[in-house]
Amino acid sequence: MTSAQERKIRQTGCHARFDNLMRQLYATDASIYQIQPVGVAFPKSAQQASAVIRAAADANLSVTPRGAGTSLVGNAVGEGLIVELSRYNRHVTDLDLEKHSVRVGAGVVLDQLNDFLRPHGFSFGPDVATSSRATLGGMIANNSSGARCPVYGTTADHVLSLEIVMADGRVETIGPMHESMRAECAKIENLIRAASNEMAERWPAGLIKRWPGYGIEKFLGAPKDLTNILAGSEGTLAAIFSAELKISPLPHEKGLGVIFFASVGEAMQATVELLDLKPAAIEHIDRPLLDQTKGQLHFQAARDLLELDTQPCESILIVEFYDFGTARTRPRFESGDMSPHSKSSVAEKLSLLQSKNLGLRKKILTDPAQMNLVWSVRKSGLSLLTGCIGPAKPVAFIEDAAVRPAQLPEYVRGLQSIMKPLGLEASYYGHAASGLLHVRPVLDLHSQGDLKKFRQVADQTSALVRQFKGSLSAEHGVGIARTEYLRDQLGDELLGVMREIKHTFDPKNIFNPGKIFADGRHKIDDHLREDFTRPLELPFQPVLAFAFKDRSFIGNLEQCNGCGGCLKQTGIMCPTFMATGEEVMSTRGRANIMRAALERRVNGHDPLKSEELDAALTNCLSCKGCTPECPSNVNLALLKAELMHARWRRDGLPLRERMLSNVDLLGRIGCAMPAVANPILTFKPLRALMESALGISARRSLPHYARERFDKWFAKHLGSAGASLAMSHASRDTRGNTIPHRGYRIDAAVFGEAPKTAGEAPALPRRGKIILWDDTFVRYHEPHIGIAAVKVLEAFGFEVSLVKNRRCCGRPAFSVGNLERAAELAKHNVSQLVSLNSQPFAPTILFLEPSCWSMFVEDYRELKIEGADDVGKRCFLFENFVDDLLAQEPDALRFNLRPTTIAIHPHCHAKSIMNPAFMGGLAERLPGRKATVLDTACCGMAGAFGALADKYDLSVQVAQRLLDNIDNQPAGTEIIASGTSCRHQIADLTNIHAKHMAELIAEAIV
Ligand SMILES: Cc1cc2nc3c(=O)[nH]c(=O)nc-3n(C[C@H](O)[C@H](O)[C@H](O)COP(=O)(O)OP(=O)(O)OC[C@H]3O[C@@H](n4cnc5c(N)ncnc54)[C@H](O)[C@@H]3O)c2cc1C
Ligand code: SF4
Ligand code: SF4
Repeated sequence: MTSAQERKIRQTGCHARFDNLMRQLYATDASIYQIQPVGVAFPKSAQQASAVIRAAADANLSVTPRGAGTSLVGNAVGEGLIVELSRYNRHVTDLDLEKHSVRVGAGVVLDQLNDFLRPHGFSFGPDVATSSRATLGGMIANNSSGARCPVYGTTADHVLSLEIVMADGRVETIGPMHESMRAECAKIENLIRAASNEMAERWPAGLIKRWPGYGIEKFLGAPKDLTNILAGSEGTLAAIFSAELKISPLPHEKGLGVIFFASVGEAMQATVELLDLKPAAIEHIDRPLLDQTKGQLHFQAARDLLELDTQPCESILIVEFYDFGTARTRPRFESGDMSPHSKSSVAEKLSLLQSKNLGLRKKILTDPAQMNLVWSVRKSGLSLLTGCIGPAKPVAFIEDAAVRPAQLPEYVRGLQSIMKPLGLEASYYGHAASGLLHVRPVLDLHSQGDLKKFRQVADQTSALVRQFKGSLSAEHGVGIARTEYLRDQLGDELLGVMREIKHTFDPKNIFNPGKIFADGRHKIDDHLREDFTRPLELPFQPVLAFAFKDRSFIGNLEQCNGCGGCLKQTGIMCPTFMATGEEVMSTRGRANIMRAALERRVNGHDPLKSEELDAALTNCLSCKGCTPECPSNVNLALLKAELMHARWRRDGLPLRERMLSNVDLLGRIGCAMPAVANPILTFKPLRALMESALGISARRSLPHYARERFDKWFAKHLGSAGASLAMSHASRDTRGNTIPHRGYRIDAAVFGEAPKTAGEAPALPRRGKIILWDDTFVRYHEPHIGIAAVKVLEAFGFEVSLVKNRRCCGRPAFSVGNLERAAELAKHNVSQLVSLNSQPFAPTILFLEPSCWSMFVEDYRELKIEGADDVGKRCFLFENFVDDLLAQEPDALRFNLRPTTIAIHPHCHAKSIMNPAFMGGLAERLPGRKATVLDTACCGMAGAFGALADKYDLSVQVAQRLLDNIDNQPAGTEIIASGTSCRHQIADLTNIHAKHMAELIAEAIV
């Protein structure tokens, strides 16, 4: 890129970036391809888009429009200017409930649109699995569709008009009701009409999804409507800036039948039979995909519901039925159907399905929560598959071929006969009702042998699809992976028609060149992600185990396939993206930049230190949100800690990081002289100095030191007779209680015997000993929380003890990448606790601070600390333990009655390991309390992150979701937050004093 070219783009006034960070961030999409663009532009208006596209054309730069970049075959990468239409262009307007229409900016995300439409009783029909981040612009350009294609058709069926920006900068509105581009329309109509026989010959009826390339077949049915040509054009004709869309009434009723099969073949055969029932969807999932959900916290409930652990099967069909009520409210596709069962009720169809002699067993579901659980597995299907361990992954390149549903059994046999001689495994899952199976052969693209097979499978599948007169790209587009095959698929005549259309719209071939029309620049096996062709080499020896899944740094880093799941606005991954909308603030962005650094694609070529790495990594909160929510379990907190550790080992640990690693020591010093230390914390000149010298924000309050440390209080509390804090082992019985826990299990909390009388004073402990972990914050800053926990545990009848000589759990050191220090602390702490493991009833260890607990149950294993596994099994979060105990013995304590509302913000580390919903139930065990578990992610404080001067603003931005949630609670609601950082953030940004759950319970005890 020359400076003249850059100047031309900048002169348009459109926000554009040409730095290496942006070029690397936008070099990939969700495909296996990697092409560095020269820059990225983010237009805010159609006029800006027009100016920037015209400037790019003038500067001889190609333009690749882009939404969320979730395309699977390289559709959204290009060597010229990426025009990103999703950052600013997210407005939903002009809802017309009479006309059933709405207007959207091209960057509106499907879930965003549906959240807007739902209260009005409407939705946008086509349901891509990437609905949490796929943009309407991308959906139109790919002519996307989803599972309910039999009811809703594809995106093209729902477009009324489009505002587009042409290669010469013209902004046009196209659609049947608009007069623009009439000459072009007439020319295109003539071209297409002349090829109608060829179309009928190549594309016989019965295909439910789309044909590759431009929608010429659909245009023939509505020749004034150029939107049909734009839908499916993959950014090769024009940029879509906004769209007027048709919306569909929500179904009145839904029902799901799940059928379990002994083989894929039987499921395919059954699909044909089930089509008669006119389902809204029939989705197929096979065992390789189901197996990927094993041990995954987020899918365990679905596995339990489907009884997959107790009654395994080879494949399942999810059959969904819709009832739209009166014909007037049915979407066009459904009401037009005259088949005998099209008007039956959901219950009737489910009972017909039940009566069919199909499969090993069936499950009928009508509860929305249960149906959602099943759909959650299906929607994560693709990413779950790619999350398998090891360098061989299910690769997307033949994953989008569709045939007529009745051809499926034979088509699957054909594919198997391609795969078998090559010794390849593949999963066959997807939209059975539409004849589209997302088949992904498992290939190690790092290996020359598998690269050869990659091409062989692609060649043979293209031929097979032709034999069935099917579509090689039925919803994901042609992209890079399939352009080579389009001549074969379409023939010269149809491809020629499309080439003429391309020339009519874009005579200089500005838009997304080399896609759909092969010009030699893209081959299926060219432009692969660099780590395939040049395997990553680490300039350091990793110290972490990556124990949860991949057992290797590179393995976990390469799990990021770009699917974009971390670009969503819900759940807990990724809070910094949710707050900013910037690619570099997402897990995907971070993983991509880490890969770029290791491939020396960063400025300075230093794999450990660069401005790109700093931009990506230093803003990661280490909240662990990605580990459970990324379907491939990318663990950015670990990757970041490891890379930072490698940097510190080479360059030395900076003073600030050294200080942050030792907050426990600071606590000890501060508590030795609180009368001196506390005023210093608010002494402005000193805070200014701390900001300039250490980067600790003067805007952030610092926690005050307690006048009496918790451990000192505890020693007094025990009295001189019991002042020894040494642990001893319990001599009581255990009651089995198993808590599902990411990949491993924690067994048997030691509950011991209940006191004889409920509410009896704990004069004589009857349940044996229990260890309370007095973390740094409880010990030095918030002893009242420890005191509350002791009150609760003693009321239960436990003999509470602390860990003599305990040291900081190591979380602060771990978070800044000071892994040696973290390991040293971990080793010490485990050595203090491990000796008790050999005892028959080793005491349970309870944690008040979730980030310390996650250190013991997860990160000590990552640090490869001997004995950590066994100790970890005895570690529980205070809330979880108390809830389990009260579930077993509801009358173990007596509580006061206090009608009040309670809102709980669970800590992100707790959310990453367990479902926090139980916390609401726990609070509601207190009579009169009505509890809500807030839908929040990380609070933004994240240990010391929010105290850093250069992170303060981001920390506050991230906190906004929590603050909004708190604002929405009824007046007088008590806020419960078990993380010290979360309470700190709430205290700093509101006038609310949040409590720990232990305080809530302690105050309720009578
Ligand atoms: C895990 C996974 C599951 C998927 N499941 C489905 C599925 O169920 N159904 C389905 O159809 N697809 C699916 N896809 C593919 C992809 O998510 C969809 O095609 C999606 O609609 C693309 O939207 P996007 O915003 O990410 O577009 P991008 O990937 O950014 O772009 C898609 C194409 O459209 C062009 N484009 C983007 N925005 C514009 C614009 N404003 N103007 C002009 N051209 C534009 C781009 O140049 C590119 O060619 C899946 C992908 C993944 C990773
Ligand atoms: S981090 Fe996970 S969710 Fe995000 S793009 Fe990578 S694989 Fe997908
Ligand atoms: S640890 Fe949290 S902030 Fe960091 S990438 Fe993962 S989800 Fe995002």
